[in-house]
Amino acid sequence: NDSSSKNEPVDGVPSISLISTFPQAPSTSDSVRIKCREMMSQALQAGDDYIAIGADCDELGAQIEEFIFCEFKNTDPKYKNRVRSRIANLKDIKNPNLRKSVLCGNVSPDRMAKMTAQEMASDELKLIRKNLTKEAIRDHQVSQTGGTQTDLFTCGKCKKKRCTYTQVQTRSADEPMTTFVFCNDCGNRWKFC
Ligand SMILES: [Zn+2]
Repeated sequence: NDSSSKNEPVDGVPSISLISTFPQAPSTSDSVRIKCREMMSQALQAGDDYIAIGADCDELGAQIEEFIFCEFKNTDPKYKNRVRSRIANLKDIKNPNLRKSVLCGNVSPDRMAKMTAQEMASDELKLIRKNLTKEAIRDHQVSQTGGTQTDLFTCGKCKKKRCTYTQVQTRSADEPMTTFVFCNDCGNRWKFC
């Protein structure tokens, strides 16, 4: 199976991917569906959080689209509206935790396919957003573009300090956040709470 190889540990570093519970989405030859999958993948790549989390955006986007298609069984305006509303919310710069939650597997593709507008912008997510801006870790960040680069973390493998990180509320809003870190120099990934 081709999909298993890219999640293999690098030099004994365990894979941190949480996205392994869903089988790979079946491929489609429908041009509308292919376009929707591409747009979904692009929306998931907004803000570059997928780099630190190590998510496969093409696969995740295809899975979300697959669940939507299975519900409507065609690509009529209802299907397109559902796809469009997912994309708009995933790209919403005021609601980064929705996208991050999907990327790290906290919100599953089937749930993302069905969430209402209210659920996507829930009070819980708003609270998370507030906590995010308060994080002391932000004081150490070097740049906000291209994922959040920081010199706060030292890579355990190459000992350099050029890392990209993102934080995700993986459970409820009052629990600590999980920080995903990616070393820009050697590609090492790790996470901690
Ligand atoms: Zn490194």
